[in-house]
Amino acid sequence: MTSNRRTFVIHSVVGASGLAAAFSAQAAVLAETDPQAVALGYKADATKVDKTKYPKYAAGQVCHNCALFQGKATDAAGGCPLFGAKQVAGKGWCSAWAKKA
Ligand code: SF4
Repeated sequence: MTSNRRTFVIHSVVGASGLAAAFSAQAAVLAETDPQAVALGYKADATKVDKTKYPKYAAGQVCHNCALFQGKATDAAGGCPLFGAKQVAGKGWCSAWAKKA
């Protein structure tokens, strides 16, 4: 009788897809349906904000004049630290809006 020892166990991990999108040259634009966007009441068009749900929204508030907007005032879209790698619309709005100093 000989004992047969199996010394190598190979685990194959398949399915690490999806990361490639994070490395695309152009930043993805945030969708209103993104869970984080929904949570913060984000709208790509600030005039479409649900004023009943977000009474603190006032006309004229847009990402362009928000302290967190990373783009220029003329950019159609720009970064926002609240949404990671995704870009928000310059004319958008979310409930974390804060007046740019
Ligand atoms: S925090 Fe400011 S820049 Fe970011 S999505 Fe909300 S309103 Fe736009």
